[in-house]
Amino acid sequence: MSGGEIDLSAWWMPFTANRQFKAAPRMLERAEGMHYYTPDGRQVLDGAAGLWCVNAGHGRAEIADAVGSALRHLDYAPPFQMGHPLAFEAAEALKAILPDGLDRIFFVNSGSEAADTALKIARAYHVARGEPNRVWLVGRERGYHGVNFGGLSVGGIPNNRAAFGPLLREVDHIRHTLDLERNAFARGQPEHGAKLADDLLRVIAEHGAEKIAAVMVEPMAGSTGVLPPPIGYLERLRSICDEHGILLIFDEVITGFGRLGAPFAAQRFGVTPDVLNMAKGLTNGAIPMGAVAVRGEVHDALMNGPPGAIELLHGYTYSGHPAASAAMIATLGIYSREKLFDRARELEPYWQDAIHSLRQSPNVIDVRDIGLVGAVELAPLAGRPGARGYDVLCRAFASGLLVRVTADTIALSPPLIISEAQIDELVDKLRTAIADSS
Ligand code: PLP
Repeated sequence: MSGGEIDLSAWWMPFTANRQFKAAPRMLERAEGMHYYTPDGRQVLDGAAGLWCVNAGHGRAEIADAVGSALRHLDYAPPFQMGHPLAFEAAEALKAILPDGLDRIFFVNSGSEAADTALKIARAYHVARGEPNRVWLVGRERGYHGVNFGGLSVGGIPNNRAAFGPLLREVDHIRHTLDLERNAFARGQPEHGAKLADDLLRVIAEHGAEKIAAVMVEPMAGSTGVLPPPIGYLERLRSICDEHGILLIFDEVITGFGRLGAPFAAQRFGVTPDVLNMAKGLTNGAIPMGAVAVRGEVHDALMNGPPGAIELLHGYTYSGHPAASAAMIATLGIYSREKLFDRARELEPYWQDAIHSLRQSPNVIDVRDIGLVGAVELAPLAGRPGARGYDVLCRAFASGLLVRVTADTIALSPPLIISEAQIDELVDKLRTAIADSS
C-alpha cells in the first residue's frame, strides 16, 4: 500500500479507517491561509480549521518564527521543580483573555490531557477541602472529552468506549440536548431545552450531592455533531452546581479562541465555570498544547499543605514546553492584533444565512449553527449509518473542500479569517457534494 512514493503501512492512523484510507489516501501536503494543497497541487478550502484548531488560518510565519527562536534559545527545560520565563509569560498572556476569576493555569499537551487534569484537580480540590467523598464525575450524553481514561469515562459516546473494558466507575451522565422535534433548523441557540439541565437534579438525587465532585460539559458539544446549548441551559447548570457545591468544568477545547465570537464560550454565554479546558486554537494548531484554567479558590484550596510539599502530584514532561509556550504567545498576539475574537460574531449573520440555505438540499434533516460553527445533519441511509456522511466528505474533498464528518452530520468550522466569498464557495461545494451523494 502506498500513496505515490510513500509507504503508508507503518503509521497506524488515529480515528481513521486505516484499510480504507490506505486504499484511497487523501493527502494534504502543505497549507497557507484558508487552503490546504494536495501533493498533486490541488487547492482545498479548509472548512474545518484543520481539526477545529487553525483559527487564525494556516502558515502563520509569526508562530513558526517564535517556535524556531524559542528552540534555538532553550530547547527544553524540565517543568518539575524548575521554571523558564516563556511558560510564565504564556500563562500571563492567557490569563488576560480568560473570564474574570480564572487566573491559575496548568499546562498540558492536548485536549485529552486537559480533561483528565481537570477531573483530577476537581477531586483533589474536594479532598483538600475535607470532602473526600465527593468523587463522582458527571458528564453528558454525546459529550467528547478526548480519549484518555478520565475523559473517555466522562465522555458520552458509547462507541468510543466499547473496546476498552471497564472505565471509571463513579461516573454518571445527564441527557444530551439534541431535540430535532422541537428545535430542527433553529438558528443560533435553540429555544427549547433549558429544562434538560434539571437532569442533573436526577443524578444528584441518585448519588447524593455530597458525593459529586464535578460536572464536565462542552458549552457547545462539537465532536458529536455541533449541539449549541439551548437558551438558558448553561445558566441553569451553573446554578444547580452552585446550590450543591459541585464544580462546573467547561471543556472549551473547540469553543475557545474566538470560535463563538468571544475569546471563550463562557464569555459569549455569560456563564463562568470553575474550571476551563483548552487546547487546539491555543497555539493555532501549530504545536501540541493544552491548558486547564481554574478559579483562584480552587487553586488556593490546594495550597494549604505542609511547606515544601508538592501540592498537586500531577504534570507532564512537556507541560509548558518552550516551543509550545512561544507558539501560544505568538498565536494570542495574532488573535489580538487581527481582532479575531470579534470575527465570528461579525460573520455570524452571513454565515447563518449561507449554511441554512442548505436546508433545501436532499436528505437534510437539520442545520445548526452558532458563532462560526455549522452542522448539516443528513438522514442516514437505511442500515448504514455514517455511509452518507462519509460519501459527502469524499465528494467534498474531491471538489476541493475539507469538512469534518461525524456519522451523518457534516460539521463546519473554517478558520476565522474566512471571507464572505469563501463562505459562498464552501457552501456551494457542500451543496453540490450533498446533491451528488443523494
Ligand atoms: N475535548 C473536546 C471538547 C474536544 O473536541 C477534543 C478533540 O476534539 C478533545 C477534548 C481532545 O483533544 P485532543 O485530541 O487534543 O486530545
